[in-house]
Amino acid sequence: MTNAHLNLIDGIWMPGDHLTENRNPSDLSDLIGHYAAGTAADVDRAAQAATGALPAWLAKGPLARAELLDRIARRIDAEAEVIGRMLAREEGKILPEAVAEVRRAAQIFRFFGGEALRIAGDAIASVRPDVDITVTREPLGVIGLITPWNFPAAIPAWKVAPALAFGNAVILKPADLVPGTAQMLARIIHEEGCPAGIFNLVMGPGSVVGHALVHHPLVTAISFTGSVTTGRAIARSAAEGMKKVQLEMGGKNPMVVLDDADLDIAVPACVNGAYFSTGQRCTASSRLIVQSGIHDAFVARLTGAMQDLRVGHALDGDSQIGPVASAAQLQGNLDYVALARAEGCEVIGGDTFDGPTEGFFQRPALFLNARNDMRVSREEIFGPCAAVIRVDSFDEALAVANDTDFGLSAGICTASLKHARAFRQGAKAGMVMVNLPTAGVDFHVPFGGTKGSSHGPREQGRYAAEFFTTIKTSYSFAG
Ligand code: NDP
Repeated sequence: MTNAHLNLIDGIWMPGDHLTENRNPSDLSDLIGHYAAGTAADVDRAAQAATGALPAWLAKGPLARAELLDRIARRIDAEAEVIGRMLAREEGKILPEAVAEVRRAAQIFRFFGGEALRIAGDAIASVRPDVDITVTREPLGVIGLITPWNFPAAIPAWKVAPALAFGNAVILKPADLVPGTAQMLARIIHEEGCPAGIFNLVMGPGSVVGHALVHHPLVTAISFTGSVTTGRAIARSAAEGMKKVQLEMGGKNPMVVLDDADLDIAVPACVNGAYFSTGQRCTASSRLIVQSGIHDAFVARLTGAMQDLRVGHALDGDSQIGPVASAAQLQGNLDYVALARAEGCEVIGGDTFDGPTEGFFQRPALFLNARNDMRVSREEIFGPCAAVIRVDSFDEALAVANDTDFGLSAGICTASLKHARAFRQGAKAGMVMVNLPTAGVDFHVPFGGTKGSSHGPREQGRYAAEFFTTIKTSYSFAG
């Protein structure tokens, strides 16, 4: 096959075991390309190469790492339109969102270029005379990065950039559904001078390549984003192999709308949080918890705004929402729409429709009269679906918001400083939004949650050092 896109192992482009087709969810006749599917032997080759390359990489010092990350950032920015088009084609995000995500990946590389130079430690007085103590951050070694399909540029970036900044080597396994964007990033990282073996790309199925990474003895840590089920299994295997592990998983994020909310803020925040990116965000607002006094006016405004949304081909400039990413994901969404009806909700939208191209197009769905104990209010759907739950008071809203197995992002729309403050303090979530959508976060501050949403240290911002480094305490006697 002439146009096969290959894995990058030890600085060499290598075929895998077989090729996987990458197709456009907006138009199934659009074959994006064929991508190498690696094997456990490829993971082994990458892990050996990474281990061998580490000492020389570390010896180059932080300036070399900072400059490399800065060059990568510039290249990603320069090619943002091309990479964004690939992202929109393979994942289905509308083009402006896709390009913005790619630019965010560049910002992340630039930020961690700076962090490479800012790695700090401590000098602490000893309790013994003439003894000095320093506490320094050291690299972990070879890190396996397993990423999902919903942010094919940003999530690989926010794992690769800190790993390299702090002197580690990585093996990236992107989601099988979206290898194209990761392959473009890999090409840039390689061409901008990342030493052979320090960055490796092994594409292929999670059950093969992901499994091999999690079980490889030379891989010292795993950073994963994806489903709770896979995350749990990885945590178990990582414990067996004594690997450090960081898991970012699902959400069932509440957005509270109080009686005193400004609907000009609340409605766009809910439309954005629930439906943008086809609801395929772990921070999506999937539970809209609305106080009774504003409930009917809110639902009327939200229904209108939601029905006005234009769903279509991700590359069509008129589209505001692209297709669902895959046939399996679409079927799952439709099953939840049927379940919402079976559980007693009034359902608005949520049906599929035929566009000019054959794609996975689904209208946004709103589940009215939902209760928090229904499955549609408890399970992550990961599609353009939101449930409206009516409550009578702020206290009830906060209790319902916290009554979930997840704890990623929680939002409130209110004009009351008192309630906003109480919500910020009381929400059991890693991120809290006041008069802002639950989704949409900055790239330079910590990202992560509580309960079933996250496990291990936070990602992003300077807190990323907690996962991507280990601490060394050194004593020296000067006497
Ligand atoms: P998965 O958890 O299956 O996939 C995430 C990543 O893990 C992919 O790279 C996948 O590879 C890999 N993987 C799969 N199995 C293994 C394994 N045994 N060992 C190591 N790695 C593995 O999620 P899906 O993509 O299948 O999505 C399913 C659901 O997960 C969604 O409907 C959504 O609810 C949730 N999800 C949540 C995300 C979030 O950001 N919170 C992101 C994506 C999904 P491969 O792609 O090759 O299978």
